[in-house]
Amino acid sequence: MSARTEDGVIIGLEIHVQLNKLHSKLFCSCGLDYHNAPPNTHTCPVCLGLPGSLPVLNRSAVKSAIKVALAMNCKILPQTQFYRKNYYYPDLPKGFQVTQYDYPISVNGYLAIEGDEGRGVRRIRINRVHMEEDPGRLVHEGTIDRSKFTLVDYNRAGVPLLEIVTEPDLRSPKEARRFLNKLRNILEYLDVFDGDLDGAIRVDANISLAGGERAEVKNISSYKGAERALSFEIVRQRNVLRRGEVVVQETRHFDELRGVTVSMRTKETEHDYRYFPEPDLVPMRVMDWVPAIKETLPELPEAQRTRFLKDYGITGTHATSLTLDPKLAQFFEDVSAAIDPKLSASWIVDVLKGELNYRDLGVSAFKTADMIEILGLFSDGVVTEKGAITVIRTILDEGGTPGGIVSEKELAKVKEDVVTSAVDEVLSECTDAIDDYRRGEAKALNYLVGQVMKKTRGRADPQDARTGLIERLDSNES
Ligand code: ZN
Ligand code: MN
Repeated sequence: MSARTEDGVIIGLEIHVQLNKLHSKLFCSCGLDYHNAPPNTHTCPVCLGLPGSLPVLNRSAVKSAIKVALAMNCKILPQTQFYRKNYYYPDLPKGFQVTQYDYPISVNGYLAIEGDEGRGVRRIRINRVHMEEDPGRLVHEGTIDRSKFTLVDYNRAGVPLLEIVTEPDLRSPKEARRFLNKLRNILEYLDVFDGDLDGAIRVDANISLAGGERAEVKNISSYKGAERALSFEIVRQRNVLRRGEVVVQETRHFDELRGVTVSMRTKETEHDYRYFPEPDLVPMRVMDWVPAIKETLPELPEAQRTRFLKDYGITGTHATSLTLDPKLAQFFEDVSAAIDPKLSASWIVDVLKGELNYRDLGVSAFKTADMIEILGLFSDGVVTEKGAITVIRTILDEGGTPGGIVSEKELAKVKEDVVTSAVDEVLSECTDAIDDYRRGEAKALNYLVGQVMKKTRGRADPQDARTGLIERLDSNES
């Protein structure tokens, strides 16, 4: 899509995030560890909405909400309260959702993101971050449009959610995706959120083109999905306008499989929900908690990135990559306590991260001590770069210790005289390549180095092989 086609695009997001690292639900003591549990095993009269049951607010959820709000640069309101949002749906046993409306816990924040090319850094305003309960989950037998019946699982009912609402400040699907990535990054640093769990984040996107009404695309469950759904909507709305028709205000559903949005219903307006204050929960004053919570805020990714650049002198690319994951950043700091930080950063980002991703593993699968040992062996010239990579791969695939693997696989760099004799052998065998080299073909030297590496089974230092070859070739010049 060219930059031209993005003109006039207006996007706002409503993001539902589960505070899924807490121990219990928002209004009862049911646990959140239901992901591998049978359906309807994490329920009680409160989250099933049985008559006579009463909610008790989870204090930790409120504190987490304040933490997130502060990290999004929001203002905490002096008084906050819950409302009932009334609507009927089978996943909502009470017939209403307990949420916030007037007096949300926080308002008026922002996150800065890298804008599209030429736009520089853009501040995306956040209208509010508020608390609410998650509904249950409908399970359709087969596909949603063909199933004979639908089951309902209330394990998710009452999970603490934050709803984060942006102003319509985003200007392209790519910006939306960047915003979501940044949000997830911050939530993970705050340690309130595990983005890998099913249903951890759901995105609703409002999108319009200049001169048209907005459509809302509901329940997009991945970042990639958000970008695709928005790109599809832009094309669809542009075509509607081009035909001289009007874009109607409506709610649409994103079909991940087909990559299209389909109309669900015309949009409800707020009064359809008959919001009123939840009479079973009193208004709260939380300002007294704020200073102490501020103290507990960890260093956020942006600040950490700046510190990495300044304190360790590593490249911007390495610093960005390391601060995408708080565990990886910590791993880097631990390794750097013993090993040159630039070397550490480059091995962690350029080698280890790739090997972990390839195996779908997190950095916790690798021991700090092992990384320090491997990089020590490499810097001391005991193993070549290739040897060090082999050690990393072996640890991940088979286990073992760096020292053990080096001796078992005979990875220790070969002695100088072995390289010299390999050079001799190669020079006596590859006369064609020697001729090519003398005719000035640079590639021929690479080929010869490769042959030396082959003879030493990768245990020669390529630089030694290269130097050895050049010395011999130039002294034998006829
Ligand atoms: Zn419960
Ligand atoms: Mn909501």
